[in-house]
Amino acid sequence: MHEMGIALQIIEIATDSIPPDAGDVRVEKINLKIGKLAAVVPDSLRFCFDVAVKDSPLEGAILFIQTLPVVARCRDCDAQWTINGPAFTCENCSGGSLEILSGRELDIESIEIVQKDEHVS
Ligand SMILES: [Zn+2]
Repeated sequence: MHEMGIALQIIEIATDSIPPDAGDVRVEKINLKIGKLAAVVPDSLRFCFDVAVKDSPLEGAILFIQTLPVVARCRDCDAQWTINGPAFTCENCSGGSLEILSGRELDIESIEIVQKDEHVS
């Protein structure tokens, strides 16, 4: 399970993104984009994240995970399509020389930080 390592990286990046003079803030939400080929199980990642953020400024932050499809391009005929199954040959010419355009992403798209006192109720 490599999700814990990923969760720790996300936490490190999110913590670094809090400006030092921001005052009493907390991270409310982290928006992630994860490609299907990144082999990350969103539920596992959320679980590891929740465990790892305990007693940190990120405690309670929501991980919003957007899964990106695998898009391939054929080097022979230039066709582009979304791969849904295990078949890694061109849908157009059946060639096997493919370039993966997207699907390996593991990007932090944005981090939402709020002042703590905005949420006192
Ligand atoms: Zn092709």
